[in-house]
Amino acid sequence: MKKSKVFYTNARSLHYRYAYSLTSKIKRLMEVFEFHEHIPANKKVAVKTHFGSVGAFRIVRPTFLRIMTDAVKEAKGIPFVTDTGGLDKLGIAAQNGITELSVGAPVLLAGGIKDFDCVMVKTGGELVKEIGVAGAIYDADGMIVVSHSKGHIQAGYGGAIKNVSMGCVTSKNRNGENQRGQMHARGETPFHWDENLCTLCGQCVEICSYLSHALKIEDKKLIMNKNKCWRCGRCVRACPTGALSVDMDEEAFAKGMTEAMKAVLSTFDPRYVVYINFVMEFQPECDCMPMADTPIIQDQGVLISADPVAIDAATLDLVAKAVPLHQSRAEEHKVRSAGPDMLQKTMGRDPWRQVVLGEKIGLGIRQYDLIQIEP
Ligand code: SF4
Ligand code: SF4
Repeated sequence: MKKSKVFYTNARSLHYRYAYSLTSKIKRLMEVFEFHEHIPANKKVAVKTHFGSVGAFRIVRPTFLRIMTDAVKEAKGIPFVTDTGGLDKLGIAAQNGITELSVGAPVLLAGGIKDFDCVMVKTGGELVKEIGVAGAIYDADGMIVVSHSKGHIQAGYGGAIKNVSMGCVTSKNRNGENQRGQMHARGETPFHWDENLCTLCGQCVEICSYLSHALKIEDKKLIMNKNKCWRCGRCVRACPTGALSVDMDEEAFAKGMTEAMKAVLSTFDPRYVVYINFVMEFQPECDCMPMADTPIIQDQGVLISADPVAIDAATLDLVAKAVPLHQSRAEEHKVRSAGPDMLQKTMGRDPWRQVVLGEKIGLGIRQYDLIQIEP
Protein backbone atom coordinates (compact mmCIF):
# COMPACT_ATOMS: atom_id res chain seq x y z
CA MET A 1 0.00 0.00 0.00
CA LYS A 2 1.31 3.43 -0.96
CA LYS A 3 2.16 5.68 1.97
CA SER A 4 3.24 9.29 2.29
CA LYS A 5 6.08 10.39 4.54
CA VAL A 6 5.43 12.63 7.49
CA PHE A 7 8.40 13.85 9.53
CA TYR A 8 7.84 14.75 13.15
CA THR A 9 9.66 16.13 16.14
CA ASN A 10 8.04 16.28 19.55
CA ALA A 11 7.68 19.42 21.61
CA ARG A 12 9.81 18.30 24.54
CA SER A 13 13.29 19.68 25.22
CA LEU A 14 15.12 17.04 27.24
CA HIS A 15 18.51 18.64 27.88
CA TYR A 16 19.95 22.08 28.54
CA ARG A 17 21.45 22.30 25.08
CA TYR A 18 20.33 24.26 22.02
CA ALA A 19 20.13 21.09 19.91
CA TYR A 20 17.23 20.04 22.12
CA SER A 21 15.27 23.27 21.78
CA LEU A 22 12.25 23.10 19.53
CA THR A 23 13.66 25.77 17.22
CA SER A 24 16.78 23.68 16.65
CA LYS A 25 14.75 20.48 16.27
CA ILE A 26 12.55 22.10 13.60
CA LYS A 27 15.65 23.10 11.62
CA ARG A 28 16.89 19.50 11.79
CA LEU A 29 13.44 18.24 10.78
CA MET A 30 13.51 20.48 7.72
CA GLU A 31 16.99 19.25 6.78
CA VAL A 32 15.95 15.61 6.97
CA PHE A 33 12.84 16.40 4.93
CA GLU A 34 15.17 18.02 2.34
CA PHE A 35 13.24 21.26 2.48
CA HIS A 36 15.55 22.95 -0.04
CA GLU A 37 14.40 20.51 -2.74
CA HIS A 38 10.92 22.06 -2.48
CA ILE A 39 11.99 25.67 -3.02
CA PRO A 40 12.06 27.13 -6.56
CA ALA A 41 15.32 29.10 -6.95
CA ASN A 42 15.00 32.83 -7.53
CA LYS A 43 11.21 32.58 -7.34
CA LYS A 44 8.70 33.98 -4.89
CA VAL A 45 7.61 31.69 -2.08
CA ALA A 46 4.56 32.41 0.10
CA VAL A 47 4.90 31.44 3.75
CA LYS A 48 1.16 31.13 4.39
CA THR A 49 0.28 31.41 8.04
CA HIS A 50 -2.62 32.75 10.11
CA PHE A 51 -2.04 36.22 11.55
CA GLY A 52 -4.65 35.61 14.26
CA SER A 53 -7.51 37.93 15.12
CA VAL A 54 -8.49 40.49 17.71
CA GLY A 55 -8.20 38.41 20.89
CA ALA A 56 -6.79 35.30 19.16
CA PHE A 57 -3.13 35.13 20.06
CA ARG A 58 -2.33 31.39 19.94
CA ILE A 59 -0.85 31.51 16.45
CA VAL A 60 2.39 30.04 15.09
CA ARG A 61 4.94 32.31 16.73
CA PRO A 62 7.14 34.66 14.69
CA THR A 63 10.27 32.88 15.91
CA PHE A 64 9.11 29.75 14.03
CA LEU A 65 8.11 31.71 10.92
CA ARG A 66 11.64 33.12 10.89
CA ILE A 67 13.02 29.59 10.60
CA MET A 68 10.87 29.10 7.48
CA THR A 69 11.89 32.35 5.78
CA ASP A 70 15.58 31.78 6.57
CA ALA A 71 15.37 28.28 5.10
CA VAL A 72 13.64 29.59 1.95
CA LYS A 73 16.40 32.18 1.54
CA GLU A 74 19.13 29.58 2.08
CA ALA A 75 17.53 27.56 -0.73
CA LYS A 76 17.69 30.71 -2.95
CA GLY A 77 13.95 31.35 -2.86
CA ILE A 78 12.39 34.77 -2.18
CA PRO A 79 10.02 34.46 0.80
CA PHE A 80 7.11 36.60 1.92
CA VAL A 81 4.82 35.93 4.88
CA THR A 82 1.14 36.24 4.12
CA ASP A 83 -2.47 35.73 5.14
CA THR A 84 -5.85 36.75 3.78
CA GLY A 85 -8.21 39.23 5.44
CA GLY A 86 -8.44 42.98 4.91
CA LEU A 87 -6.20 45.80 6.08
CA ASP A 88 -7.04 45.27 9.78
CA LYS A 89 -5.19 41.98 9.59
CA LEU A 90 -1.83 43.74 9.17
CA GLY A 91 -2.32 45.47 12.51
CA ILE A 92 -3.29 42.16 14.08
CA ALA A 93 -0.17 40.53 12.62
CA ALA A 94 1.95 43.27 14.19
CA GLN A 95 0.16 42.89 17.55
CA ASN A 96 0.95 39.20 17.42
CA GLY A 97 4.60 39.98 16.69
CA ILE A 98 4.61 39.25 12.95
CA THR A 99 6.52 42.08 11.29
CA GLU A 100 9.16 42.18 8.58
CA LEU A 101 11.79 42.71 11.28
CA SER A 102 10.72 39.65 13.29
CA VAL A 103 10.06 37.20 10.47
CA GLY A 104 12.81 38.40 8.12
CA ALA A 105 10.60 38.81 5.04
CA PRO A 106 7.88 41.18 3.81
CA VAL A 107 4.52 40.67 5.52
CA LEU A 108 1.74 40.97 2.92
CA LEU A 109 -2.03 40.77 2.68
CA ALA A 110 -2.63 37.99 0.17
CA GLY A 111 -5.96 39.44 -0.95
CA GLY A 112 -5.19 43.16 -0.77
CA ILE A 113 -6.55 45.79 1.61
CA LYS A 114 -10.20 44.72 1.22
CA ASP A 115 -9.58 40.99 0.70
CA PHE A 116 -11.14 41.26 -2.77
CA ASP A 117 -8.02 40.82 -4.92
CA CYS A 118 -8.27 37.34 -6.33
CA VAL A 119 -8.16 35.29 -9.49
CA MET A 120 -11.17 33.08 -10.15
CA VAL A 121 -10.06 29.45 -10.59
CA LYS A 122 -12.33 26.55 -11.56
CA THR A 123 -12.37 23.77 -8.97
CA GLY A 124 -13.77 20.94 -11.09
CA GLY A 125 -15.92 20.19 -8.02
CA GLU A 126 -19.62 19.74 -7.39
CA LEU A 127 -20.42 22.28 -4.67
CA VAL A 128 -17.90 25.04 -5.23
CA LYS A 129 -17.52 25.48 -8.98
CA GLU A 130 -15.11 28.39 -8.94
CA ILE A 131 -13.17 30.11 -6.17
CA GLY A 132 -11.25 33.37 -5.82
CA VAL A 133 -7.64 32.45 -5.09
CA ALA A 134 -5.97 35.37 -3.28
CA GLY A 135 -3.72 37.32 -5.66
CA ALA A 136 -0.44 36.90 -3.78
CA ILE A 137 -1.04 33.16 -3.45
CA TYR A 138 -1.95 32.86 -7.13
CA ASP A 139 1.21 34.73 -8.12
CA ALA A 140 3.55 32.84 -5.80
CA ASP A 141 5.74 30.13 -7.32
CA GLY A 142 5.97 28.08 -4.14
CA MET A 143 4.16 27.92 -0.81
CA ILE A 144 5.05 26.85 2.70
CA VAL A 145 1.74 26.15 4.42
CA VAL A 146 2.45 26.86 8.08
CA SER A 147 -0.60 25.78 10.06
CA HIS A 148 -1.52 26.13 13.71
CA SER A 149 -3.42 22.90 14.34
CA LYS A 150 -6.47 23.38 16.54
CA GLY A 151 -10.15 22.62 16.83
CA HIS A 152 -12.79 24.40 14.78
CA ILE A 153 -16.40 25.18 15.56
CA GLN A 154 -17.69 24.01 12.17
CA ALA A 155 -15.01 21.62 10.87
CA GLY A 156 -14.03 20.03 14.20
CA TYR A 157 -10.37 20.49 13.28
CA GLY A 158 -8.25 23.03 11.43
CA GLY A 159 -4.82 22.23 10.01
CA ALA A 160 -3.20 22.09 6.58
CA ILE A 161 -6.37 21.45 4.57
CA LYS A 162 -8.20 24.29 6.22
CA ASN A 163 -5.27 26.69 5.97
CA VAL A 164 -5.18 26.26 2.19
CA SER A 165 -8.86 25.91 1.39
CA MET A 166 -10.17 28.77 3.56
CA GLY A 167 -7.01 30.74 4.16
CA CYS A 168 -5.79 31.07 0.58
CA VAL A 169 -9.04 32.39 -0.88
CA THR A 170 -10.55 35.83 -0.45
CA SER A 171 -13.77 36.80 1.30
CA LYS A 172 -15.26 38.27 -1.90
CA ASN A 173 -14.20 38.92 -5.46
CA ARG A 174 -14.32 42.29 -7.18
CA ASN A 175 -17.90 41.67 -8.30
CA GLY A 176 -18.90 41.42 -4.63
CA GLU A 177 -19.53 37.67 -4.85
CA ASN A 178 -18.77 35.67 -1.72
CA GLN A 179 -15.83 33.30 -2.00
CA ARG A 180 -14.83 31.78 1.34
CA GLY A 181 -18.44 32.05 2.47
CA GLN A 182 -19.51 29.59 -0.25
CA MET A 183 -18.02 26.91 1.97
CA HIS A 184 -19.22 28.15 5.37
CA ALA A 185 -22.85 28.62 4.43
CA ARG A 186 -24.42 27.06 1.37
CA GLY A 187 -24.56 29.20 -1.76
CA GLU A 188 -26.57 32.34 -1.19
CA THR A 189 -29.31 30.85 0.99
CA PRO A 190 -30.79 33.61 3.20
CA PHE A 191 -30.09 34.11 6.89
CA HIS A 192 -33.08 33.80 9.19
CA TRP A 193 -33.52 35.96 12.30
CA ASP A 194 -36.17 34.87 14.79
CA GLU A 195 -37.31 37.94 16.64
CA ASN A 196 -38.98 35.84 19.33
CA LEU A 197 -35.75 34.03 20.24
CA CYS A 198 -33.54 37.12 20.07
CA THR A 199 -32.56 38.74 23.37
CA LEU A 200 -30.79 41.62 21.57
CA CYS A 201 -27.61 40.63 23.41
CA GLY A 202 -25.47 41.98 20.56
CA GLN A 203 -22.97 39.08 20.45
CA CYS A 204 -23.57 38.60 16.74
CA VAL A 205 -22.98 42.32 16.05
CA GLU A 206 -19.78 42.28 18.07
CA ILE A 207 -18.30 39.20 16.40
CA CYS A 208 -19.12 40.59 12.95
CA SER A 209 -17.56 43.95 13.76
CA TYR A 210 -14.05 42.47 13.95
CA LEU A 211 -14.05 41.81 10.21
CA SER A 212 -17.10 42.81 8.23
CA HIS A 213 -19.37 45.32 10.04
CA ALA A 214 -22.40 43.80 8.34
CA LEU A 215 -24.76 43.70 11.35
CA LYS A 216 -26.39 46.33 13.53
CA ILE A 217 -29.30 46.51 15.93
CA GLU A 218 -31.71 49.38 15.30
CA ASP A 219 -35.14 49.89 16.86
CA LYS A 220 -34.87 46.43 18.47
CA LYS A 221 -34.35 44.82 15.04
CA LEU A 222 -31.27 43.02 13.77
CA ILE A 223 -30.30 44.45 10.39
CA MET A 224 -27.87 42.77 8.02
CA ASN A 225 -26.10 44.56 5.18
CA LYS A 226 -25.83 41.76 2.63
CA ASN A 227 -23.21 43.61 0.59
CA LYS A 228 -20.87 43.70 3.56
CA CYS A 229 -21.61 40.16 4.77
CA TRP A 230 -18.92 37.57 3.93
CA ARG A 231 -21.17 34.66 4.94
CA CYS A 232 -18.55 33.53 7.44
CA GLY A 233 -21.30 32.21 9.73
CA ARG A 234 -19.62 33.55 12.87
CA CYS A 235 -22.76 35.42 13.95
CA VAL A 236 -24.85 32.25 13.72
CA ARG A 237 -22.34 30.24 15.72
CA ALA A 238 -21.96 32.96 18.36
CA CYS A 239 -25.71 33.42 18.90
CA PRO A 240 -26.50 31.86 22.30
CA THR A 241 -30.23 31.43 21.70
CA GLY A 242 -30.42 30.06 18.14
CA ALA A 243 -32.22 33.21 16.99
CA LEU A 244 -29.96 33.49 13.95
CA SER A 245 -29.64 30.67 11.45
CA VAL A 246 -28.47 29.88 7.93
CA ASP A 247 -28.17 26.69 5.92
CA MET A 248 -24.85 25.26 7.19
CA ASP A 249 -24.03 21.64 6.64
CA GLU A 250 -20.83 20.10 7.96
CA GLU A 251 -20.47 17.52 5.19
CA ALA A 252 -20.94 20.20 2.54
CA PHE A 253 -18.49 22.46 4.36
CA ALA A 254 -15.79 19.79 4.36
CA LYS A 255 -16.47 18.87 0.73
CA GLY A 256 -16.43 22.53 -0.32
CA MET A 257 -13.10 22.98 1.47
CA THR A 258 -11.48 20.12 -0.41
CA GLU A 259 -12.82 21.42 -3.74
CA ALA A 260 -11.49 24.92 -3.05
CA MET A 261 -8.16 23.46 -1.98
CA LYS A 262 -7.86 21.61 -5.26
CA ALA A 263 -8.28 24.90 -7.10
CA VAL A 264 -5.67 26.67 -4.96
CA LEU A 265 -3.15 23.86 -5.46
CA SER A 266 -3.77 23.83 -9.21
CA THR A 267 -1.97 27.18 -9.34
CA PHE A 268 1.29 25.58 -8.07
CA ASP A 269 3.83 23.09 -9.26
CA PRO A 270 3.19 20.38 -6.60
CA ARG A 271 6.94 20.00 -5.99
CA TYR A 272 6.92 23.47 -4.47
CA VAL A 273 4.23 23.18 -1.81
CA VAL A 274 5.26 22.09 1.69
CA TYR A 275 3.04 21.62 4.76
CA ILE A 276 4.18 22.26 8.33
CA ASN A 277 1.73 21.64 11.17
CA PHE A 278 2.36 23.06 14.63
CA VAL A 279 0.49 20.88 17.09
CA MET A 280 1.04 23.41 19.83
CA GLU A 281 -1.41 25.37 21.95
CA PHE A 282 -4.10 23.13 20.46
CA GLN A 283 -7.11 25.18 21.48
CA PRO A 284 -10.72 24.45 20.48
CA GLU A 285 -11.24 27.42 18.19
CA CYS A 286 -10.08 28.83 14.91
CA ASP A 287 -7.58 31.71 15.07
CA CYS A 288 -10.15 33.96 13.38
CA MET A 289 -12.45 34.04 16.42
CA PRO A 290 -12.13 37.01 18.82
CA MET A 291 -10.74 34.84 21.62
CA ALA A 292 -8.38 31.96 22.33
CA ASP A 293 -9.36 29.33 24.86
CA THR A 294 -6.89 27.24 26.85
CA PRO A 295 -5.38 24.26 24.97
CA ILE A 296 -7.25 20.94 25.02
CA ILE A 297 -4.04 18.89 25.05
CA GLN A 298 -0.37 19.33 25.87
CA ASP A 299 1.93 20.57 23.05
CA GLN A 300 2.72 17.63 20.79
CA GLY A 301 5.30 19.00 18.37
CA VAL A 302 5.80 19.83 14.72
CA LEU A 303 5.20 17.82 11.54
CA ILE A 304 6.34 18.38 7.97
CA SER A 305 5.23 16.67 4.78
CA ALA A 306 4.60 17.18 1.09
CA ASP A 307 1.17 15.61 1.52
CA PRO A 308 -1.60 17.71 3.14
CA VAL A 309 -3.90 14.76 3.72
CA ALA A 310 -1.19 12.64 5.35
CA ILE A 311 0.01 15.48 7.60
CA ASP A 312 -3.52 16.21 8.84
CA ALA A 313 -4.12 12.49 9.37
CA ALA A 314 -0.87 12.20 11.34
CA THR A 315 -1.80 15.27 13.37
CA LEU A 316 -5.22 13.86 14.26
CA ASP A 317 -3.62 10.56 15.25
CA LEU A 318 -1.21 12.41 17.57
CA VAL A 319 -4.10 14.38 19.05
CA ALA A 320 -6.03 11.16 19.65
CA LYS A 321 -3.17 9.80 21.76
CA ALA A 322 -2.97 12.88 23.96
CA VAL A 323 -4.65 13.02 27.33
CA PRO A 324 -7.12 15.95 27.56
CA LEU A 325 -6.00 18.72 29.88
CA HIS A 326 -7.70 19.92 33.01
CA GLN A 327 -9.34 23.34 32.84
CA SER A 328 -9.98 22.94 29.12
CA ARG A 329 -13.00 22.60 26.82
CA ALA A 330 -12.41 18.82 26.91
CA GLU A 331 -12.88 18.70 30.67
CA GLU A 332 -15.93 20.95 30.39
CA HIS A 333 -17.42 18.32 28.06
CA LYS A 334 -16.40 15.55 30.48
CA VAL A 335 -13.85 14.14 28.02
CA ARG A 336 -11.12 12.85 30.30
CA SER A 337 -9.20 10.21 28.38
CA ALA A 338 -7.25 9.92 25.14
CA GLY A 339 -8.81 8.05 22.25
CA PRO A 340 -9.82 8.26 18.60
CA ASP A 341 -13.02 10.12 19.44
CA MET A 342 -11.54 12.52 22.01
CA LEU A 343 -11.57 15.53 19.65
CA GLN A 344 -14.97 14.71 18.20
CA LYS A 345 -16.47 14.43 21.68
CA THR A 346 -14.85 17.72 22.68
CA MET A 347 -15.85 19.63 19.55
CA GLY A 348 -19.10 17.87 18.70
CA ARG A 349 -17.92 17.60 15.09
CA ASP A 350 -16.14 14.91 13.08
CA PRO A 351 -12.59 16.23 12.55
CA TRP A 352 -11.76 13.48 10.03
CA ARG A 353 -14.38 14.45 7.46
CA GLN A 354 -12.11 16.87 5.57
CA VAL A 355 -9.26 14.32 5.59
CA VAL A 356 -11.43 11.52 4.20
CA LEU A 357 -12.92 13.79 1.52
CA GLY A 358 -9.49 15.26 0.78
CA GLU A 359 -8.17 11.81 -0.03
CA LYS A 360 -11.25 11.06 -2.12
CA ILE A 361 -10.77 14.13 -4.27
CA GLY A 362 -7.07 13.35 -4.79
CA LEU A 363 -5.34 15.90 -2.54
CA GLY A 364 -3.18 13.20 -0.96
CA ILE A 365 -3.34 9.91 0.87
CA ARG A 366 -4.25 9.10 4.46
CA GLN A 367 -1.71 6.34 4.92
CA TYR A 368 1.64 7.57 6.12
CA ASP A 369 4.94 6.58 7.65
CA LEU A 370 5.75 8.78 10.64
CA ILE A 371 9.48 9.45 10.83
CA GLN A 372 10.42 10.92 14.18
CA ILE A 373 13.54 13.06 14.30
CA GLU A 374 15.08 13.83 17.71
CA PRO A 375 18.63 14.87 18.60
S1 SF4 B 1 -22.02 35.79 8.32
FE1 SF4 B 1 -22.57 37.04 10.10
S2 SF4 B 1 -20.59 37.48 11.12
FE2 SF4 B 1 -20.13 36.78 9.05
S3 SF4 B 1 -19.97 38.65 7.83
FE3 SF4 B 1 -22.09 37.94 7.64
S4 SF4 B 1 -23.20 39.00 9.23
FE4 SF4 B 1 -21.04 39.19 9.74
S1 SF4 C 1 -26.54 36.91 19.12
FE1 SF4 C 1 -28.57 36.02 18.78
S2 SF4 C 1 -29.74 36.65 20.57
FE2 SF4 C 1 -27.95 37.98 20.50
S3 SF4 C 1 -28.58 39.79 19.31
FE3 SF4 C 1 -27.71 38.36 17.85
S4 SF4 C 1 -29.45 37.18 17.07
FE4 SF4 C 1 -30.12 38.18 18.97
